[in-house]
Amino acid sequence: MNIVLLGAPGAGKGTQAQLLIKEYGIPHISTGDILRAAVKNETPLGLKAKSFMDAGELVPDDLIIDLMRERLAQEDALKGFILDGFPRTTTQAAALDTVLSEDGRRIDCALAIEVPDEDIIKRLSSRRVCRVCGYTGSAADAVCPQCGGEMYQRDDDKTETIANRLAVYQRSTAPLINYYSGAGVLVEIDGNRAVDEVYSDVKAAVERD
Ligand code: AMP
Repeated sequence: MNIVLLGAPGAGKGTQAQLLIKEYGIPHISTGDILRAAVKNETPLGLKAKSFMDAGELVPDDLIIDLMRERLAQEDALKGFILDGFPRTTTQAAALDTVLSEDGRRIDCALAIEVPDEDIIKRLSSRRVCRVCGYTGSAADAVCPQCGGEMYQRDDDKTETIANRLAVYQRSTAPLINYYSGAGVLVEIDGNRAVDEVYSDVKAAVERD
């Protein structure tokens, strides 16, 4: 089961991915998580990516495509995967198809989780993430409800960066809806509902074949 999760930042891709992992036991591959770890560890990739990420801009396609070529070749990804935050441009989507087709794989399902911009802005500005376990919560969580760790606000969730991230999404990522629709694998899902309601549509979509 090879799944792509599409949707603006804050649409709930990570939350839905966590539920899919529990149910299907396939890895969740988030380019944002990989890049944040690289920045924290000051790897060569992290050093190149940091300024783009801080500005809410996309990291250049060639860096991301090399990173994902390696990640998708790892053993755990061969039985299936959930991609979150990748692809983000049609160049990345075409490269992904090429990489997968080299060993007879393909994307089975692209889920577009749709949430209006005004709700995205509210969600992102109140989003907080656990420094210890990565749990995503909100400003209402004084400490992580999962592990008691410290909750922090991602730099790119600050008000001044959110507008640019949404503009980048509209310009570069929204065209992927047409890309996957053309490939016959797109399912659009209303993400402006309770998590379990969204998930029930997500599950129906990935099991539809
Ligand atoms: P995310 O956690 O998915 O919102 O990603 C955080 C940031 O990482 C983005 O705003 C981009 O700067 C960078 N990033 C993540 N995934 C990609 C990608 N597929 N292509 C380019 N940049 C990315």
